[in-house]
Amino acid sequence: MINKRLFEHYGIDTTKDLGMKQRCPRPFDTVLIDKMGSCYACECQSWLPQSIGNLQVKELQDILGSPTHRLLQSSIEDGSFRYCNNKRCPHLMHGVGWEEGRSFQLRLAIDDSCNLRCPSCRKSMIFHKEGSAYNLGIKLADKINDWLWEYKHPIQVHMGSDGDPFASHVYRHFMRQTPRTDNITYSILTNGLMFKDFHNHVPKVIENLKELGVSIDGASKETYEKLRLGGRWEKILEGLECMAEQKQKHGFRFILHFVVQKGNYHEMEDIIQLGKDYGADRVWLNKIEDWQVMDNWGEQDIFNELHPLNKDFINKFEKVIPMLDHEGKSPMVQAPLLYKKSS
Ligand code: SF4
Ligand code: SF4
Repeated sequence: MINKRLFEHYGIDTTKDLGMKQRCPRPFDTVLIDKMGSCYACECQSWLPQSIGNLQVKELQDILGSPTHRLLQSSIEDGSFRYCNNKRCPHLMHGVGWEEGRSFQLRLAIDDSCNLRCPSCRKSMIFHKEGSAYNLGIKLADKINDWLWEYKHPIQVHMGSDGDPFASHVYRHFMRQTPRTDNITYSILTNGLMFKDFHNHVPKVIENLKELGVSIDGASKETYEKLRLGGRWEKILEGLECMAEQKQKHGFRFILHFVVQKGNYHEMEDIIQLGKDYGADRVWLNKIEDWQVMDNWGEQDIFNELHPLNKDFINKFEKVIPMLDHEGKSPMVQAPLLYKKSS
């Protein structure tokens, strides 16, 4: 039932007992589906890497509540968190609390196609318009939609943690076919470049959108076009304007995500201002992570005290600190991971 090799691969000790007092809600309220159809009871498969079933061979209603799903849930209920990756999960690493009381969340990671090739994410362009990856993505999208048509409880469907939902032909297909029912809301993370051109094609999703996140790692043309390879500054500004208009119309939460790294840490204040200019509800400042894509990670890791730019980063971040509370949060700016590192 439990894939021991997988846990060894991630360096997870499954005999541990973290003695947690608070229950993590994720194995009870979240399922992530990856591009092979494997389902996970957490927001990220590297945090809790055991699959609870595969959508290629089983139905979602049978995967939810499967013996493996129950086993993972019981490891949370007994406080041991023995299957969780406490070297990767930010909640366990940094004590970041869990958002409680959410509706059930279905996180789709069924197509990694994107119109960009950001150096922190991939070495070359990934785009599936035909072939086996595309066909499997469509098959999974159809199965998920069939299940959604029957599902009657409140649920939020999230798209876009693996590629771009407006560029991907698999997600476009999913969004065109997905049901328009009162119990379903959507959240999307996008690079924003195709929003203006495509949002009119998926009114069901836009009308029921609860949250729109835009990953934008630059607040100037020079930085943006260097870090978002293939993106154009003028086009993202047009996209932001269109998103601000749609937010006024449909009332979704509009959030900018800025992954702080060597090439942009000098623009932290500017991205907050950009968020204000375009009516964003929130700006997230996150730390860049090593996804083993970059050859020069040590050079990028300005959060390391030994990095020559670490002091300069701390000086720049101190200008952001007055906007935050003691946990690195405020309604407009969220930077809990950076805050802990700098204080
Ligand atoms: S890895 Fe973290 S978020 Fe996932 S179930 Fe464990 S504690 Fe919760
Ligand atoms: S926009 Fe997002 S998914 Fe696309 S390449 Fe950049 S980081 Fe990856």
